[in-house]
Order: sequence, then C-alpha cells, then structure tokens
Amino acid sequence: PGGRTGTEAVSVEAELTTVSLPVIEAAPPATAPDIRRSILDLTHEELTAWLSAAGQPAFRAKQIRRWLFRGRIQSFADMRDLPQRLREQLASEFRFSSFERVGHQVALDRTEKLLLRLGDGELVECVLMRDPPDRRTVCISTQVGCAMGCVFCASGLLGVKRNLTVAEIVEQVLVLHRLMSDDEQISNVVVMGIGEPLANFRSLMTALEQLTEDDGFGLGARRITVSTVGLPEKIREFARSGKQYNLAISLHAPNDDLRTQIVPVNRSIGIQDIMEAADEFHFTTGRRVSWEYVLLSGINDQPQHAQQLAELLAGRIAHVNLIPMNGVSELVMTAPQEPQTRRFLDILQQRGIAATVRKRKGADIDAACGQLRLNREQLRNSDVADN
Ligand code: SAH
Repeated sequence: PGGRTGTEAVSVEAELTTVSLPVIEAAPPATAPDIRRSILDLTHEELTAWLSAAGQPAFRAKQIRRWLFRGRIQSFADMRDLPQRLREQLASEFRFSSFERVGHQVALDRTEKLLLRLGDGELVECVLMRDPPDRRTVCISTQVGCAMGCVFCASGLLGVKRNLTVAEIVEQVLVLHRLMSDDEQISNVVVMGIGEPLANFRSLMTALEQLTEDDGFGLGARRITVSTVGLPEKIREFARSGKQYNLAISLHAPNDDLRTQIVPVNRSIGIQDIMEAADEFHFTTGRRVSWEYVLLSGINDQPQHAQQLAELLAGRIAHVNLIPMNGVSELVMTAPQEPQTRRFLDILQQRGIAATVRKRKGADIDAACGQLRLNREQLRNSDVADN
C-alpha cells in the first residue's frame, strides 16, 4: 500500500516538501449498533425484489443504482427523482453508508488519503492518486489488518481482524469519487490497500462486479488491478472468472529462502507454484502479469538478486514494478539509495525484462498505507494503557 499507481514512471522519489493537513476528528461511534443492511450489499436482483415487495416498479432499481454509483450524493434524501415516501422507506430499511470519516489528508501532489471507521469501530484506509492529465487511481483495502505478515509492511503488524464486506469494499471507491470535483472521473482501481484480497475472495469478486457492471460503477475490468501475496489456488480461480482484470503478484525475492524470510507465508507455498499459477492466469486471460518487488536495502536489492529475478522471469510476458520501500516508523528496514535502485533496474532491463520503478505519491502525508490505521490503533492501545 501507499502511493502506488502501477504506472510506468522511472523517476525515483518525487520531491516534496512536507505539509500535511490536520486529521479531522469525528464523533466516536454511536452506542447502539446499526443493524440495517447496507444498500451496497444488494445486487440489482435483490434490490428489484425488495422494490417489488414494497410495491414499487422495477425501473426504480436502475434509478437508485445510478444515484448510488454515479451520483455524488450523501444520503437517500438526495435521490431527487424518487418519490419522497420511497426515499424514506429506503432510509429506514438500509444504511446509505458504512463509514464515518475519521481522517482526511491531502498531500502536495494532491494525493488524498481517507481513514474510515466502520460500523463496528474498526478502521480502514483508502487513497486517491492523481496523475496528469486525467489519470485518477484509487487504492482500496479488502480486510481489517492482514494475516500475511510481510516483514516490511505496516498493515500486518497487528494481524488480521476480519474481512471487509462487499459494501465496505465498493464504498471506498464511491467516497473517493464523491471527494473529486465534477470534471474528474476515477480511471483506475488498484486493490493494493490493507489486506490480502484473494483471502477475501468471494466479497472481492462481488465488489469488482458492482464496480464494473453497466448499471453499477461502470469501470472497465482492464482498469482494475488486484495485488496478491501469491495464493496459487486463488490465482487460478481468479483467472477462471473470465474477466479482464489485471493481476499483480508481490514477489519481493527471487528464491524461496529469501522470500520466506521476507514473506513468511511463502514457507507453505513456494515460488514455483506461484509461477505456474501466474502462467495459467496469463494463458487463460491473455493478460500480462505484473510482479511487485519491494526493494529493501541490503536485503533483496543486490545485483545477484536482480540476475536471479531476470532468470526466473525470462521467457515470460511479465512486467516488474520495483518499489523502493516506504518507511514504516516501527521498522528498521529502509529503501536502497537511488544508485542501487537504478542498478537493479538496469540489470533487469539489460536482460530484456520489462521493469519500472514505481513513482512515489503522497510522500508527505503518510509513508506506507496501513500506517494511518496502525498509528491510530497504537494511540488507542496506549489510551487504554493509560486509563
Ligand atoms: N496483500 C496484497 C495487497 C496489499 S499490499 C499483496 O501482498 O500484494 C500492496 C503492495 O504494497 C504489495 O506489493 C506490498 O508488498 C506493498 N507494500 C506493503 N508495504 C510496503 C512498504 N512499506 N513499502 C513499499 N511497498 C509496500
């Protein structure tokens, strides 16, 4: 997580001075839990069935969904062309939003990051990144925390709490969409926020359907990228969806010994199985697989690692995204200096492997995604300890 767009930029580290807007605090969660279903958890068919039971014509489903996905509105009351009574019925039956916004940061490069509180008090993050002229990429989360335990990542430091629901996944895109000005449109979605998307497979797939359906958010499948730690069976299932989604696999090391040190779940998986699943994905979908490689100074950034990585990917239609590690204050690992990054990139390119260094975005607001939630949870824990 944190400032990645999957774009082809080769520059290393945008220069930014630090100005970060204060976090806007909202009221603590209401005491009585809200048991209403979120309207975004309903498929078109379910909404149509509910309308019919409420004595409403079926065409209302289309109207409601247009407001939900395209209208930049804040409540059912804003659905202006619906009868007043239906708006009230909807509001009493369903939750319009699953979130309360507890943090909003805007970076100098206009990257925006939201910290959202869910109905049960858990926290989740999402990010909007802007690239000229009109690329607008949002990065969304799929779990509260993460069970994968990658040693450089802030998201997994507290383990995993639970999966996000379909509504909670979809609504991150919608709240960011509502933040943008009317002449801006979301062009890309990357599922690279907190959590392992393929470990929340069913909700992920339904959420992606809502985002791509014509009467949903209407985004092209090719504009969506799912990033995974590399769960082979789930990669195969993802390929079989028959959709043109992009797949990014977080490799981070070119051999099993090193990968198991950096990505502990690798112990029971192994690179070979991941490569085979990736080949199958490419064969089934025709899509090029992206390989993410977080560069950790002195750990996986040496020339021999680049050589080995090139050997591993030789002959495959692949693209490597090198990501100099974003600093995480709890961790001592760091990104390599720019010349080391450059050298790694050069070796891959000389060997004919397509590779780029991911441009860092929103550097002044918070290093790595997962960091906002982590900081807040630690604050909460220390509050408890103080009491
Ligand atoms: N669990 C999924 C998706 C979430 S992480 C996965 O592993 O791919 C999205 C990407 O951000 C992954 O490539 C992950 O390795 C990377 N990432 C996590 N922490 C980072 C950090 N501190 N600096 C740079 N990249 C990081």
